[in-house]
Amino acid sequence: MSSTTPNAHTSVLRTLHRIHRQLTDLRERLARGPKQIQAAEANVQNCEHALQQTRAEAKAMRVASDQKQLQLKSREDKVKDLRRKLNTVSSNREYQVLLEQIAAEEMTNSVLADEVLEALDKIDAFQKNVAEAEAVLAAGKQRTQEVRAEVARQAPSLKTEIARLEAELKQEETGLPEDILQVYHRIVRQKGEDALAAVENQCCSGCNQQVTLNVYSHIMMGTPMLCRSCGRLLYVPE
Ligand SMILES: [Zn+2]
Repeated sequence: MSSTTPNAHTSVLRTLHRIHRQLTDLRERLARGPKQIQAAEANVQNCEHALQQTRAEAKAMRVASDQKQLQLKSREDKVKDLRRKLNTVSSNREYQVLLEQIAAEEMTNSVLADEVLEALDKIDAFQKNVAEAEAVLAAGKQRTQEVRAEVARQAPSLKTEIARLEAELKQEETGLPEDILQVYHRIVRQKGEDALAAVENQCCSGCNQQVTLNVYSHIMMGTPMLCRSCGRLLYVPE
């Protein structure tokens, strides 16, 4: 590799690495926006599903309670019939049997009436769950709107900043001699911002492996070298 104006190369690589890192950060932030919206929308779908289930559960409880009430009504009608029948029986014995039957029916009906009241209480209490699920859904929808607004608000400035840095990157790259530039482009294509690494305490800060004394002395003299472990283009930090 060329070693003309060595310190200038190091300074260019340092700057390029900073720009690459900033670009990666900005691109990630830009890409995060749609993901955040997707996550918020998925949450709303889950909330809608939960609300549907809760409403279905409430409906099933009402249907069961209505059936029980109908059952009670028809059993009470039956008792009325039995009472009317009391007037038509001829024997004392028949009368007694009928009275006992009425008593047994009324006992059963009383239990059923308690069950109906209990079911109605449960339905009342369950309304709280429906209201909660509705509130959670409303909050989820509100959150989605906020996320959308925030993403829309940030996107233009992120895009502007990315474009500015991309231009700055191109400009800065012209400071590298052709042979280094080719190597640099090849590694950037493969590794993105990880194409470059500072040498700190004689170690590649990308992979933490010690660089050889030979490589180190070249870098210290300003000649760009590749890390033998990870292939990053090494430079001396400020
Ligand atoms: Zn390395």
